[in-house]
Amino acid sequence: MVSRFYNFGPGPATVPEPVLNKAREDLPEWHSSGMSVIEMSHRGKDFVGIAEHAEAILRELLAIPSSYRVLFLQGGATGQFAAVPLNLKRDKAKFAYLSTGLWSEKAIAEAKRYGEVQIVASSKERGYTAIPSRSDWNIDPDAAYLHYTANETIGGVEFQSIPEVESLTLVADMSSNILSRPVDVSRFGVIYAGAQKNLGPAGITLVIVREDLIGHAHPFTPSILDYKLQADNGSMLNTPPTYNWYLLGLVLEWIKEQGGIPAIEARNIRKADKLYAAIDASSFYSNPVDPAVRSRMNVPFLLAKTDLEKAFLAEAKAHGLVNLEGHRSVGGLRAST
Ligand code: PMP
Repeated sequence: MVSRFYNFGPGPATVPEPVLNKAREDLPEWHSSGMSVIEMSHRGKDFVGIAEHAEAILRELLAIPSSYRVLFLQGGATGQFAAVPLNLKRDKAKFAYLSTGLWSEKAIAEAKRYGEVQIVASSKERGYTAIPSRSDWNIDPDAAYLHYTANETIGGVEFQSIPEVESLTLVADMSSNILSRPVDVSRFGVIYAGAQKNLGPAGITLVIVREDLIGHAHPFTPSILDYKLQADNGSMLNTPPTYNWYLLGLVLEWIKEQGGIPAIEARNIRKADKLYAAIDASSFYSNPVDPAVRSRMNVPFLLAKTDLEKAFLAEAKAHGLVNLEGHRSVGGLRAST
């Protein structure tokens, strides 16, 4: 491949070159099938094989227990902001949320449309540069679930372990750190992630849901967001994003070839350590996040002289380093790794 940038965009994000090359090879015709994946019927044997293969690799990589269903949906993580309260409300009055950044806020705003939200703890007053310590959380034991954002893509704050919540159903938005580190799926009720950061293309959304939580959706739940309808139909209640599903499968295959999550995690630690070390060693760059919860995936940083940002971005680009702007809501700079 020619002249590819180092793309630090948070998502859509860089995709491994071997994946792109494989996709290019397969594009006009997939495996002597006489057609491109784009042209296949989603219910035909070839595509169903592609879809099942992606799920099988994911199950292997994450050691997903058989008591969990894996769904490949549309509507992004934003769709799941609504799907979670609608599917898990049951007879409960409240939803519990941890507020650790702008993506938590968006999830909370959506949940409020469907019921009362209890904010278990918030780091808003600290500018979302920290995670409130567990001893300061105030969890209503009767909440339908506790939701948290495992990695705040904008603020660069990441949970370094799974929160202890006793018997409460735990729900995590892992859009920006899924498969970047090992995770014990059995601790969760629901894990969801938009694919465009760590899984490949935008337009397909991963949902991993414990079986006993399926089948209780609120009657007003749109069919497309109903976990049971989707699970019963193999995530094909309507035409799924077939090409994205195939691409996602290629990314999973690549991760497996690299040595699975342990190998990917080691690489992520190396990258993040280098970047934070460079920032901390300089008087020119700074990162505002509590070092104990710094994200391995998204590294926001500021320049000592903020008026140099434009020049920094231009010079970075001249060196082949692009998409280093911070999120438009907060400004500054950010490297997504
Ligand atoms: N949650 C997190 C943590 C995100 O980073 C994003 C996207 N940047 C979203 C949710 C929203 O995802 P989508 O665009 O797939 O709806």
